[in-house]
Amino acid sequence: MSAAIKATKKRAIKAAAKVVSKVKAAAKPSKAKAAKTKATKPTPATRERAAEIETRLRAAMPEPRCELNHENAWQLLIATILSAQSTDRMVNKVTPTLFARFPTPAALGNADQSELETIVKSTGFFRNKAKSIRAASQQIAEEFGGEVPRTLDEIIKLPGVARKTANVVLGTAYRVPSGVTVDTHAGRVARRLQLTKHEDPVKVELDLCALFPQDSWIDMGHRFVLHGRYVCLARSPRCSHCPINELCKAREAPPAATWQARARLEADRVEASFGTL
Ligand code: SF4
Repeated sequence: MSAAIKATKKRAIKAAAKVVSKVKAAAKPSKAKAAKTKATKPTPATRERAAEIETRLRAAMPEPRCELNHENAWQLLIATILSAQSTDRMVNKVTPTLFARFPTPAALGNADQSELETIVKSTGFFRNKAKSIRAASQQIAEEFGGEVPRTLDEIIKLPGVARKTANVVLGTAYRVPSGVTVDTHAGRVARRLQLTKHEDPVKVELDLCALFPQDSWIDMGHRFVLHGRYVCLARSPRCSHCPINELCKAREAPPAATWQARARLEADRVEASFGTL
């Protein structure tokens, strides 16, 4: 082999090795990228504040519930998929008709796509939602004997099921603390309370999981959602009636009474809403 051919071959091997290492680097997240998905390390002061927030919100909502009407884990899974970009009130209007017409995962898994679309239309994004609830039900019927799986790894693989849906179903139906449920309300409350600076719900969840003990994750998720829905409203938060007012730098008004009195007010407000959605 001539020296020129040898040199060309060497250059080609070097170039190929460079491409392979670039592809490997792209496939493997860099340390910086990986760090971004880690929880922000809470300071002792933030931990202390979080513990006090939990005490007060627990007083306001000792046994918080999910507001999506359901009779079992499968119905809750379907209702939660339908609630994306919609309201619990709207979903609760649709699900009685849906579950009366298709009472089991097998029945919904075999449903006609256009009939499903008509039933779920008012929840928005109805084509995709109809597809997801049909495919998820089919998979539950065929691969899991009609029972929603009880692990995060399995449930997250069902069509249309993201982390929020998985946490809601595992936590509410099975009491499995797989994480803190973060919807638009919970995310807003966590940011106002400076428990996170993230917008991405998965990163918010990581920060909240690092702040609260695992056996609180299910109920704290519900409490953040309900607090955001009934007190820490997006446009005009009810700061003077908020039981965690003193712990919140984003408060827009001073507290109106003791925190215990404000917690009782929130308890009444949340309790009055159940059954009316
Ligand atoms: S004080 Fe106001 S902004 Fe802060 S959590 Fe309460 S309602 Fe929300």
